[in-house]
Amino acid sequence: MTKNRISTMDGLWVITVLFFSLGFVHIGFSLLGLFCMGFPFALYLKSGEKLWCKKYCPRASLFLRILHKISLKKPLLKGFTKQNVKTGVLIYFGINVFFATMSTIMVSLGRVAPIDYVRFLIVFPIPVAFPQLLQFTISPWLLHLSYRIYSMMLTSTTIGLILGFLYVPRAWCVICPIQTLTTKKPVKIQG
Ligand code: SF4
Repeated sequence: MTKNRISTMDGLWVITVLFFSLGFVHIGFSLLGLFCMGFPFALYLKSGEKLWCKKYCPRASLFLRILHKISLKKPLLKGFTKQNVKTGVLIYFGINVFFATMSTIMVSLGRVAPIDYVRFLIVFPIPVAFPQLLQFTISPWLLHLSYRIYSMMLTSTTIGLILGFLYVPRAWCVICPIQTLTTKKPVKIQG
């Protein structure tokens, strides 16, 4: 990680903190996560470069901000950078997006009730009550989708923080689906 890259991302971590905090204000704000999922690809298609990963990713900024001094900086596990690990993570998140999409459609059709709580790794409910400080109603399918997006973001960020603590702060970037989908050839990610 160059000094320049750190300074470019410096401050963007606030957006990540704000995103997760807004989930306690009203879960509907989680729909903003769609921007974080789509914008990296829009930038990549427009520029042909991974501008999001290089300059604008609020999650990478958070990893650097929290972990750059406390990361244990252990050597990455053998095989962690292998393509099949990246592909496995990509498939997992593809399944996650597929389930979120299909279940949202089912909720919108009135076939199933919305899942109105956060889950870790798709299936594990997180035992934290979200106070919902703003009381306004959104349709059941939007409620369901909001919780699914929040769950995805929380899962990947939590795993990223654990990896970053053990290895280098941006260890998650090695296997991040956005990195995998926008990389033409393997790159070395440094803390
Ligand atoms: S690889 Fe993922 S976490 Fe890392 S900078 Fe890119 S989008 Fe952000």
